[in-house]
Amino acid sequence: SGGLRSKSSVSLFNRAMADDIARRLDMEHLLWQGMQNQEFEMYFQPQIDMQNGQICGAEALIRWHSATLGPVSPAEFIPIAEETGLIIELGKWILAEACRVTRTCLDLVDDSFRMGVNVSPVQFQDRDLPRQIARCIEQFELPADSLEVEITEGVLIDPSLDSHELLPKIKALGVHLSLDDFGTGYSSISYLQRMKFDTLKVDQSFVRDICTDSDTRVIVRSIVAMAKRLSMSVIMEGVEEQAQYELLRSFNSDRSQGYFHAKPMPEQDFLEFARTIAAER
Ligand code: C2E
Ligand code: MG
Ligand code: MG
Ligand code: MG
Repeated sequence: SGGLRSKSSVSLFNRAMADDIARRLDMEHLLWQGMQNQEFEMYFQPQIDMQNGQICGAEALIRWHSATLGPVSPAEFIPIAEETGLIIELGKWILAEACRVTRTCLDLVDDSFRMGVNVSPVQFQDRDLPRQIARCIEQFELPADSLEVEITEGVLIDPSLDSHELLPKIKALGVHLSLDDFGTGYSSISYLQRMKFDTLKVDQSFVRDICTDSDTRVIVRSIVAMAKRLSMSVIMEGVEEQAQYELLRSFNSDRSQGYFHAKPMPEQDFLEFARTIAAER
């Protein structure tokens, strides 16, 4: 021992790094190929109105069924799609798919249904983004506020992005803006001064601890109160248990999303789920 690394552990470490790099390089290529071969699919996770327990919307979440790698998590491939710029093309498809399914939901579930769509900071490099969104809304004849664009603070931080120009243009379409993963960034609160968001999505790390940690309860309760004073609606992410749901409802949260209600599902399963809930009304 004595702090000296053995030769074998060093080479193991290098091997692991080399494997990582190889997987990344593979993945760049496979991502591109996957787009040609239509290996991507949008899943939909319901959002529940905490006032009445009804389904009020969903979040569109991408899935990749790679012919070579099998299922790959977006947490792994989205960053690579961002670095390579592929997310710009992929993002157009994501938006169109989300809008297409929103049309169905408006007809089938409720005319106040709202779909959350994640938009990557890299998509803001494309100054055509607001027009892209406008065209999609038009194509599927959506009320603009049936769409909720979810961004993370990365969009607001990066000085190379013209987000201060593009965000107001998107907002001017009537589309809702949502600040995702709220509370995990470096200075989330200051962004609330810069941009008027319609919705705050409280990060699931807060929800996870809410029943066991009293400080977390104070923080979440305060976030909800602040959001209300700023006329924002609040979505809780990662709600997994009844006790979390009840507590969050007692804090006056608006919408709940998590495995407690349902996991993200393929389109047909989601529509079935939504139809069943709507029929129970
Ligand atoms: P996000 O936007 O914060 O999405 C919420 C994530 O939480 C999703 O992971 C969802 O499946 C997961 N989740 C929902 N309920 C629960 C729960 O009760 N417990 C736990 N443990 N997790 C829950 P997913 O689908 O793996 O996506 C991860 C991230 O990848 C997303 O975080 C988002 O940043 C990114 N992403 C996913 N789809 C897209 C997309 O279409 N476009 C872009 N740009 N990014 C996407
Ligand atoms: Mg999101
Ligand atoms: Mg989130
Ligand atoms: Mg996230």
